[in-house]
Formats: sequence, structure tokens, C-alpha cells
Amino acid sequence: MRLEELFACATGADREQNVAAPRDTLKTRRRVDIFVRIGVLGLQGAFSEHVDAVRAAFARAGIDGRVATVRRREELEALDGLIMPGGESTTISKLLRTFDLHDLLVRRATQEDFPILGTCAGMILLSTEGDGQVERTDTRLLGLMDMSVNRNAFGRQRESFEASLDIKGFDAPVPGVFIRAPAITRTWGACEALGTLGEHIVAAQQGNRLAIAFHPELTGDTRVHERFVDMVRRWR
Ligand code: GLN
Repeated sequence: MRLEELFACATGADREQNVAAPRDTLKTRRRVDIFVRIGVLGLQGAFSEHVDAVRAAFARAGIDGRVATVRRREELEALDGLIMPGGESTTISKLLRTFDLHDLLVRRATQEDFPILGTCAGMILLSTEGDGQVERTDTRLLGLMDMSVNRNAFGRQRESFEASLDIKGFDAPVPGVFIRAPAITRTWGACEALGTLGEHIVAAQQGNRLAIAFHPELTGDTRVHERFVDMVRRWR
């Protein structure tokens, strides 16, 4: 199946809805009617909620966009932006190699500044430096952000919890659902920390790469996805 058809299947019926339901009236927000393609890496983990969140973000921005889960090289090649979801980072890293996507992703990001949003396990994979668990499990990081991660920073007692977070670039606190969540222990170079929870860095950005330790797709608050959609639109 051609990529265009794939996107048509995944989103076809929603097209009108995507372009016709901005949150603000057209008087207050200019409609940016362009075609952007965002993929959600569908190898393992929590990907379908991201598809819904991206659709909502397209609608709010008044952008004509397509979103679908992707697994193949030719799909990745045709995208304007990719979301790497939460899940199990060792498994996703192995599948990235099995599906021959690892090097392509690194090439697109380093040569084209291709936009990537990594949440939770996706955030771990974006980083340059992991912890002992990353090394022991032969998890191959993409090395696309100058940051070091602790894979299960919040420990067993706090396997899953919610917190309200102040994140740079958002005018009101962002609700965060943390599930066996990682944290960023330090950033350097061009990587900027955007928000913390206690001593843990939970959001960072480097160029067109956005790393989020929690699950923004599970709250119904689509502002993280709106920010990513805006990055993709500008890049394109
Ligand atoms: N801690 C998990 C890992 O190491 C990530 C958890 C998540 O994505 N919800 O892969």
C-alpha cells in the first residue's frame, strides 16, 4: 500500500473535521491550511492515543494534517515529523534495528533537523547517555539529544502517578501522567531543560527534538502535541 493511501485510510474521514474545527474562531487565529504528515512509531508501546492527540492538535491549529502509525523505512522517509511513544525502551531499540530504522532516523535528525517528539521510552531513546540498565540491556540509544537519562528514576514505590508541571513555553501547568517514568539527570551543549519535578528534569528540547518524561497523550490536554505540530509546520 502506498504511503498516501495509508494516511488516507488512517485519517480520511477525519479530514474535514481536522480542518474545520479550530478552537478559536478564524478571526482570532489564522487558518494555516497546509498538509503535514506526522507518524507515530508503531513498533511497541502506547501509540494509538498519540494518533488521537495529534488529530486534536491539527484541529486546534487549523492545519490540514495526516497522522498514522508507521513501521517501515519508506513511511519514515516520507514523514514531516515522528512521535516515539512510551513502552519498553530496550524492546523499541531492538525493533528499530530489526526494521532497519535506527540509522535512517539518526540520519534524518542530524542532516535535516527532522522533528521528533519522544515520550517516556521514546525520550530515553533520544538521549546520548543512559544509565547502567541501558548498558546492561544493550539498549542502543539514538544519541540525538545532549542529555543523560535515568531509566526508572522514580523507583518502584512510585510506579505511576500524576503531577502538575511548569514547563517553559506553556502559560499554565501541564498535567503529567508518569508510568515507570525516566528522568533526565543532566543536559549539556545545545539541549535545554524545559521543566523539573523535584530534582528531576522531565522535559527538554534540542533543535527540533522534544523529550517528555511523562505521557502527554493520556490526559486529554493536547498542548504538548500542539507544540510539536507547530514545530513540524515550521520545519516543513
Ligand atoms: N521505564 C521504561 C523503559 O525503560 C519506560 C516507561 C514508559 O515508557 N512508560 O523503557
